[in-house]
Amino acid sequence: MTEKGMQTDLSAPQELRTIHDFTDVFLVVCPRCSRKADVTSSTEERPPRFSCLHCGLVRQWTSDKKGVLFSQQSGDWPEGQYALGDAADPYFHLPLWLQTPCCGHTLWAFNTQHLQYLRDFVAAKDRHTPPREAKDPLNSLLTSRLPKWMQLARNRQAVLRAIKMLELKLD
Ligand SMILES: [Zn+2]
Repeated sequence: MTEKGMQTDLSAPQELRTIHDFTDVFLVVCPRCSRKADVTSSTEERPPRFSCLHCGLVRQWTSDKKGVLFSQQSGDWPEGQYALGDAADPYFHLPLWLQTPCCGHTLWAFNTQHLQYLRDFVAAKDRHTPPREAKDPLNSLLTSRLPKWMQLARNRQAVLRAIKMLELKLD
């Protein structure tokens, strides 16, 4: 792909994505049945929500009188804390379903689209630094935030194997 093509080809927008493009849904481990469950981010209609199709467990963030959202969980439910970048969802802090040891680190993805993005990125023979708009925060581009070990050519095969393993967990 030429550099000109990257800027004009709308069919290849992946180069421009940031991690915030993958935060609509988080696949997590259900704290009750240990199977795959969903955490969805807040929308205009409702606050962040956990739901497990396997055992029916549902939890929702709630808001105070000023409309400030907070996690109202107790007992054996893990305390939520918003932090992007861990191998956990940022709302309920449940472990991500898609995570596996790789090259002495943890390879993780929020969801199917995120995993596909990582695979495409690592599989690509040629890396380009995506063009950055002035208004973007310097480090908000997902590619610039990918850890170095994932970008090393010598780790590529191991990383792709780990991604393949995670893809199997989606079935
Ligand atoms: Zn469950």
